[in-house]
Amino acid sequence: MLNIVIFGPPGAGKGTQSARLTEKYHLIHLSTGDILRGEIESGSILGQEAKLLMDQGLLVPDEIVITMINNKLVQNSNATGFIFDGFPRTIHQAEALDRLLYAKGTGISMTLALDISNEELIQRIIKRGEELGRTDDQDLDTISKRITEYTSKTAPLKEYYSKQKKFFAIRGVGSIDEIFNSLCMAVESHYNPGQKQVYSAPPLPAVLPSVLAEKQVKKVEKKVAAKAATKTTKKLTKNVVKNVIKKVAKKTTKKTVKKAAKKTAKKLPAKKVISKKKNTSKKAPKKKAAGKKKTRR
Ligand code: ADP
Repeated sequence: MLNIVIFGPPGAGKGTQSARLTEKYHLIHLSTGDILRGEIESGSILGQEAKLLMDQGLLVPDEIVITMINNKLVQNSNATGFIFDGFPRTIHQAEALDRLLYAKGTGISMTLALDISNEELIQRIIKRGEELGRTDDQDLDTISKRITEYTSKTAPLKEYYSKQKKFFAIRGVGSIDEIFNSLCMAVESHYNPGQKQVYSAPPLPAVLPSVLAEKQVKKVEKKVAAKAATKTTKKLTKNVVKNVIKKVAKKTTKKTVKKAAKKTAKKLPAKKVISKKKNTSKKAPKKKAAGKKKTRR
């Protein structure tokens, strides 16, 4: 499989070039920004909450985007390759992506980074804001916050993929055709279909969705057990429960993540939950007294 991460700051031209690469190499284009904007348009709760963060130039929580990407990978199980655009944006997302692909018997083939100066970026974003009306492209404070988020959380992925010898920088300035040609040259010179996939992500940490899923499994198991006791429907297997959970997990919104994390926080050792909070959130709930257990946004 040809799995490309297209990498670069906001406004670098990832979307434009991804569309072309998708067509040329018959890939599935997965853009987390587009998926989130789709949620906003549909008016879903996830979309409404994501919009609040996106309009401030902040990243959406890792667990939300990882779940979205996982769903897309499952939906496109026959794909011959993917182009990941706007994902991963944090080390945690990159590790999760490595795990998801490894579980499918594949991995990232290469990361193609569009190199471009901040001045050029800002000009392009403002122009895009005028042309497409994206609210996060129209305000200078939001634009600069997005660039700061990129520098602090996303740029470190350069080292992550360089260590795996999968990081290739491409000059992101010039005509769309020129940049596209450079990208194609990089794809053709670095793609090795027989590449042995190495599982480079660290051992699985307590990722919130799995904690959540386990908790939901237990909850439903309890319900099922109670039902079974009264109705003597003892043949409900764990698989049935898991199927129910899969359906529930698909509908998991930020709100339910928050709710479940709150409950989980009470039962899990405090350290685990607090460290997750530190990774993804800067806002502490206003009313909580200092020293009280933190929960996810
Ligand atoms: P750009 O690359 O120009 O910033 P995107 O469409 O990729 O545009 O992203 C727009 C916004 O969507 C981001 O600023 C962020 O709030 C949110 N977003 C997109 N992808 C992710 C991701 N992988 N993780 C967290 N937030 C994301």
